[in-house]
Amino acid sequence: MEPFSPPWVGQWDTVRHDMLGRAARRRERLEVSATAVVAGVEVSPDHFIGGERVSSAATFPDISPIDESHLADIARGGAAEIDQAVAAAQDAFPAWAALGPEGRAKHLFAIADLILERQDMLAEVETLDNGSLLEASRLRLMKRASANFRFFAQLSLDLEGRRWEVDGTRYAVRRDPSGVAALIAPWNAPFMLETWKCGPALAAGCTAVLKPAEWSPLTASLLGEIVTEAGLPPGVLNVVQGIGEEAGAALVAHPGLARISFTGSVETARSIARAAAASLTPVSFELGGKSPFLVFADADLDRALETATYQYDNAGQVCLAGTRLLVEQAIADEFTERFLAGVAERRLGDPRDPDTDIGPLITREHLARVEGFVERAQADGAELVFGGRISPELGGLYYEPTLFTNVRQEMEIVQKEVFGPVLTLQTFADEDEAVALANGTEYGLAATVFTRDDARADRLGERLVAGTTWINCFYARDLGAPFGGAKRSGIGREGGEWSFDFYADVKTVARRD
Ligand code: NAD
Repeated sequence: MEPFSPPWVGQWDTVRHDMLGRAARRRERLEVSATAVVAGVEVSPDHFIGGERVSSAATFPDISPIDESHLADIARGGAAEIDQAVAAAQDAFPAWAALGPEGRAKHLFAIADLILERQDMLAEVETLDNGSLLEASRLRLMKRASANFRFFAQLSLDLEGRRWEVDGTRYAVRRDPSGVAALIAPWNAPFMLETWKCGPALAAGCTAVLKPAEWSPLTASLLGEIVTEAGLPPGVLNVVQGIGEEAGAALVAHPGLARISFTGSVETARSIARAAAASLTPVSFELGGKSPFLVFADADLDRALETATYQYDNAGQVCLAGTRLLVEQAIADEFTERFLAGVAERRLGDPRDPDTDIGPLITREHLARVEGFVERAQADGAELVFGGRISPELGGLYYEPTLFTNVRQEMEIVQKEVFGPVLTLQTFADEDEAVALANGTEYGLAATVFTRDDARADRLGERLVAGTTWINCFYARDLGAPFGGAKRSGIGREGGEWSFDFYADVKTVARRD
């Protein structure tokens, strides 16, 4: 008996012929109807659907967090544009799936190269769009975005399906492309997170509709030009701009999807799960965190302190940030004193300035949310050690690094993700108490531990409930490692072969002669 083959495999010659024909007809450069000029770069405010720019009657303003200046009016997509994009992705799917890992990898490697070539330009546009540090974006995030295509394309070539035999039956595991993937990303590291989804989805043979966050739409738009120049067949990757409750909601409710990969907040995940339930579309959720940062008395305090002050980076708008400092009582005074001095050296300012360590919050709306948390923490009796206000010198969206002590575990400021530059500091007497405090929220995205005791490090690796636990380090994220959240911080894991398990249909073929 032959193993099941996907329906397009027998039509390979026709499919390939059609694909080559279309590629020949494809323009080398995407024609852009209207553009906004951001950081000296022409950026289309329109959607990218079926390899073409598509506009919408309605638009929404894109504002820079640096000075609240108006950058562009972006196409405001809805159900009609989503229908069009899903149809384009469905049309492109059979030929893309039939290309196989090698055929697909050529395109994905070309995209990775173009991102690297344009990393400076992409970083400049993204910094204006979302206020992240220009240097970090150029040196770290854009390189990572390129790696998101290269790594998963290479892994798709290296992956082997498992094979074994039991009682005369031969078993084989296949990972076949599943269809159209909806990819939804947040604004805090937009291009890095969008490509973290696009790379593996396309490498696995899915076609995709990407919905960028409305507060950071620009670099996703530039991806349209990049994939066109890389020769990606039209419709394989589509970008629909718009508001979450409009374009996002229409996308996740679409019955034509095979997968939904979402990174964002727990609240939005709940509404996506409800929408996905109608078609039973499989979801992968990477959600918020309130991650503990544990420092034991036996730790290398210099390293622990340096890493602790880093938790204010990106103005605290980092899902993985260790926002709950948990410090062993014996060193609490010394830690606190040195932490204050370390944070005082961190410079708040324009993210394009190389001397700046911490930039602005993303929008007025988000600023109001952060202020609400700080006000309620004070009303609950938490003690404000520093910060808690907009910088008097800078104004705008520049919020000072903030620390609360004398907090109780049940307080909102300990339990809920602020997603701003607000940390709490608690002390613990021993390891059991540290673990109880660390695990005592609904989140489980990450945990960081500083200790020199190997046996303790082993125990905590097991006892802390977190998708990722860092011991004596922070933010070490190899693309081959599984990534996701425990408890309310997510559903499923992506990264390495786990991404392929999600985006592909994993099949068992049991066969006898
Ligand atoms: P959000 O949930 O408000 O929005 C995320 C995305 O979902 C945006 O593109 C938005 O337009 C879209 N969206 C909003 N409502 C929708 C709906 N009803 N249907 C479909 N899509 C919808 O989150 P945010 O404010 O953009 O990002 C901050 C959150 O993301 C934080 O909780 C943060 O911890 C989390 N995050 C998690 C990770 C991770 O890897 N776990 C990484 C970055 C950010």
